[in-house]
Amino acid sequence: MEARMRAYNFSAGPATIAEEVLAEARDELIEWHGVGASVMEISHRGQDFMGLAREIQQDFRDLLAIPDHYQVLFLQGGAQAQFAFVPMNLKRPAQSADYILTGTWGEKAWQQAASLGEVRVAASSKEDGYRHIPALDTWNLDPRSAYVHYTPNETISGVEFFSDPDVGDVPLVADMSSNILSRPMDISRFDLIYAGAQKNMGPSGLTVVIIREDLLQRCPDAMPWVFNYRMQAEQQSMYNTPNTFAWYLAGKVFKWLKAKGGLEAIEAHNVKKATLLYEAIDASDFYRNPVERSCRSRMNVPFTLARPELDELFLEKSAANGLLALKGHKLVGGMRASIYNAMPIQGVEALVQFMQDFEKDHA
Ligand SMILES: *Cc1c(COP(=O)(O)O)cnc(C)c1O
Repeated sequence: MEARMRAYNFSAGPATIAEEVLAEARDELIEWHGVGASVMEISHRGQDFMGLAREIQQDFRDLLAIPDHYQVLFLQGGAQAQFAFVPMNLKRPAQSADYILTGTWGEKAWQQAASLGEVRVAASSKEDGYRHIPALDTWNLDPRSAYVHYTPNETISGVEFFSDPDVGDVPLVADMSSNILSRPMDISRFDLIYAGAQKNMGPSGLTVVIIREDLLQRCPDAMPWVFNYRMQAEQQSMYNTPNTFAWYLAGKVFKWLKAKGGLEAIEAHNVKKATLLYEAIDASDFYRNPVERSCRSRMNVPFTLARPELDELFLEKSAANGLLALKGHKLVGGMRASIYNAMPIQGVEALVQFMQDFEKDHA
C-alpha cells in the first residue's frame, strides 16, 4: 500500500503536529524506553512514567520561564471545562468576576460562568463583529472582582492581544488555548493561564493550567475534586489517572520546540509566516481580512473571497493541492488558515501561491 503524502494541514484544532514528533511516537508506539510496553500501557504512578512526567513539566516550565511560585497542572476536559472550573475554583458565591469579550470563546466563557453565578461583561467588541480590541481605558473593571478573564487569541475571528492588559490588583485569567507557546510571555503578568493542548501543544484531551500558588487557597472543597486546582497541585496532576499518552506527545512537542531554539525562535518563525499571508491578502482585491491591523492574529488568519459563490470551488481545489481544512468557522464564513507553531513556512508559501493562482483563474 502506498502511503498518502502528508498535506499542509490548516485545521484550527485539533491541529497539525510536527512530523518529526509523530515519527518518534510511531517508532516508540509498540515498545517505549525499554519498559516492554507502550507508554499508554504502564502505570502513571510507576517510576518510568513519573520520571517522564517530571521531565515534561520541566521542559514546559523552561520554555515559558515559569517562576517558581506558579504551579503547572495537566488536566482533562478541554478548555471549555475551564470555563466552568475557573469560577468554581476562584470565586466565592457572593463575588463577581469581570469578562472581556473579544470573540466567541470569551463570550462562551462568560456565558458558562454566568450560568453558575454573578459575573459582569467589562468590555466587548461584539457590536463590530469582534474585529478589534476595546481600548484598555474603556474597560469598566470592578476592583472587587474575583478575577478578570480574557482571551489573548480569539481562534474564530482571528483577534490577538500583543500586550498583556494591566488590570491592577485583580487576578488576571487568560484562555491561551490558541496562542500558548507561540512567543515568549511574561508569566508573572498573569495569575491563571489555561490552554487546551490541541492547537499548539499536541493532541486533544490535555489541558494545561498555570496558576499562581497562593490562589490555590481559594479552591473550595465542594466541587468536583478532579478539577480542584489545589487538590490536583498536591497530587502532581495525578489525583486521578491522567491522559498519559497526551502528556507523552505534548512532552515531545516541548522537546521539539526547545530544539528549534525555544519561544524566541518560534516567534520569529510565526511572524514571518503571518506577515507573508497577511501581505498576500492585503495586496489583493480578491481576498480580504476584516480585523483591525494592530490585533490581527498570528495563529488564525480568516479571509473572505470577493465572490463567495466561489468558496466551494476554492476549498475543493485547495484540498486537491494538498492544502487541508481551510474552511472558515460557520460564524464568520469564508476561509481560515490556522498557522500554529507546527505549520512550516513552506505550507504558507504553498497557500499564498495557490491563492494567487486561484485569483488569476477566477477574478
Ligand atoms: C479551541 C478553543 C477552545 C475550546 O477548547 P475545547 O478543548 O474544545 O474545550 C476554547 N478557547 C479557545 C481560545 C480555543 O481556541
